[in-house]
Amino acid sequence: MTHYCLQCDDGTKLVHTRRDLTVQVRGRERVVTKVSGWHCPVCGEVEFDPGEGQRYSAAAEALAAEEAVMLRSIRKRLGLSQKAAAELTGGGHNAFSRYERGEARPMPAVINLFSLLDRHPELLGELAEAPSRTNSR
Ligand SMILES: [Zn+2]
Repeated sequence: MTHYCLQCDDGTKLVHTRRDLTVQVRGRERVVTKVSGWHCPVCGEVEFDPGEGQRYSAAAEALAAEEAVMLRSIRKRLGLSQKAAAELTGGGHNAFSRYERGEARPMPAVINLFSLLDRHPELLGELAEAPSRTNSR
């Protein structure tokens, strides 16, 4: 049976094969090796064979978990409580505990801000809503 690419939507035929796929989450990557399924030679779309989709989403979840760990370690280096970090970025008073437990994904702006503050922690004091750090004043 011929499988057509629904993404290309122009009659491009999918090829049944195993191919290494790269999962990307905000600039970080993980390769899932030899994913079996119907692959589009044009756009890279895949119809996974049974069970293969789980391997792919497990890799994406692992990258998201790494992001949560990174966010927590930056927050601690900045000397911010979860509550203070949430006040800084919005999203509700318990937003950070939800990010760090993997119950919610932070907006890219949150990751970007914390990556920036990690490199330039002195800028924390210049933010309009600067929360009090646990070890100052
Ligand atoms: Zn395609």
